[in-house]
Amino acid sequence: MPVEPPNDVLAHHQQVEHDLRRKAETAQLLLDAARYLGETLEIERVYDRFHELLADAIQHDGVVVSSFDEHEGLIRAEYVWVEGKHIDPETLPELKLSTAGGMQSEVIRSGRPLLENDVGGRLAADEGGTFYDVDREGTVRKLPDTGPTHVQAAMMVPVKHEGRVVGVVQLMSDETTYTEEDLEVVEGLAGLMAAAVRMARLQAERRRAEAAEATANAIAEEREQAARVLEAIGDGILYVRRDGVVRFWNRSAELITGLQSEDVRDRQAEEVVPGWQAITDQVAITEEDEVARVVRVPVEIGGRELWLSFVAVGRPEGVVYAFRDLSAERELEQAKSDFIATVSHELRTPMTAVYGAARTLLRPELDISPEQARELLEMIATQSERLAQITEEVLLASRLDRGEVTVERDHVDVAELARGTVDAMQPHLGVDVALDAPESAFATGDRDRIQQILINLLDNAAKFSPRGGGITVSVSQDGDHVRLSVTDHGVGIAPSEQQAIFEKFYRVDPHQTETPGGTGLGLYICGELARRMDARITVDSEPGRGSTFALDLPRA
Ligand code: ADP
Repeated sequence: MPVEPPNDVLAHHQQVEHDLRRKAETAQLLLDAARYLGETLEIERVYDRFHELLADAIQHDGVVVSSFDEHEGLIRAEYVWVEGKHIDPETLPELKLSTAGGMQSEVIRSGRPLLENDVGGRLAADEGGTFYDVDREGTVRKLPDTGPTHVQAAMMVPVKHEGRVVGVVQLMSDETTYTEEDLEVVEGLAGLMAAAVRMARLQAERRRAEAAEATANAIAEEREQAARVLEAIGDGILYVRRDGVVRFWNRSAELITGLQSEDVRDRQAEEVVPGWQAITDQVAITEEDEVARVVRVPVEIGGRELWLSFVAVGRPEGVVYAFRDLSAERELEQAKSDFIATVSHELRTPMTAVYGAARTLLRPELDISPEQARELLEMIATQSERLAQITEEVLLASRLDRGEVTVERDHVDVAELARGTVDAMQPHLGVDVALDAPESAFATGDRDRIQQILINLLDNAAKFSPRGGGITVSVSQDGDHVRLSVTDHGVGIAPSEQQAIFEKFYRVDPHQTETPGGTGLGLYICGELARRMDARITVDSEPGRGSTFALDLPRA
């Protein structure tokens, strides 16, 4: 026969069962909460979810989550919800942790949760704390000065990190009261919420760090790109700090000056850059919003004089100099002004002769013999021819420059052409010209232009053989070419000049009195004409021994 358990035993059993069920429900709730809170890494969303979970578990009219800064001793609202509305946490004033009284302060001081079912009574009795009330419109009132609170009950639980209180969660109700069981649930949820907030903060921190790293990388890349551009730029660029130390020296600066970056960088500009004093004396430093002024400065580097154009821009920490090598332009300018002087001189000599001869012939009182008259007329003829020749050269050179000269592609017997030209020129040259040519040698080219080149080469050979010595014109053929060459035993040409003599206006030692006259255009014209016939002119020469100029024409 079953024994009826006594009533108190039954009641005890029911209590145990109730407790167990409640504990199981709380455990389930917290488990779900942990999952739900863990799903987001945005702090705002964590708070919202936390509040959603609270709303399902415990009746309340207000929630405030505050953080506590131990160093400043300040309590700041992070999340505020009152009677169905979110309030901007900034509207709540920061609270100083009070050493006595104050409910939040007490939780922070003790590290233990607090449950108060008579908030009004507590406020009246509390001397040390500061209390604020906030309504759903966000209006904040200081209590109790502005009247009684409408809050009936409150629960406050500490949020901890590694044993220290870092915040407080408050739950308030206007009508109901709270139990220890409610407090237990709030504690559990607050703990989970705090963990989720920490995760979210870490995540935000990581994102910030990643963004900072990405920005740093982008800046580094930009700098690298800028450095690469500076390296590739055709102008020499150097940067000199206010203390005179060179900090940057690009590739073009190396090429122009022949000084390597590693020999210059981190050293005083004055010590390593040749002519630095002259540069700083003459180059005015432009400040950033002005138009840069370009100054030309001659600088001697490695025994050569370079003409550099400088621009200097001042920066707070130093000066950036950009420079360009104008030596080639300067040489051309020099050559041009030399040319004008030369041509004027070249023209004046025959003109004076022609003028003088003409005046003499025209003087009626002067009694000159027919032979003398003839000599004068011959001189007029020769000098006029020279005048025409100079004019012709100048005009032809400028037509070549403008691309107005065309050449024929004839079948030319170079051997025969050389024979004819040598025969015609011989009497005028004043030196012996020997010919070494086969019966015939056919090339493709422009007959008149080939002859023009040969005349020019013969003229030069005679002109630059002051001590005489024979000239040899030879014609030969090899695989693809017919070679027409002129050899003299004159002054010869230094190796360093052998390329330059083909440049426009270039003349070796034009200022020396013994240098024969000329415009410096002859070989330039020869080279340009040859190029247009797909031919080439080369020189082989030794100073004091003589020269051989050779024209290689394509074989027909
Ligand atoms: P120009 O004879 O009118 O001065 P060119 O262009 O014909 O001009 O020649 C350029 C320079 O090359 C000459 O001034 C001279 O210095 C040099 N040159 C040319 N031909 C010879 C040569 N056969 N021997 C020595 N020097 C020469």
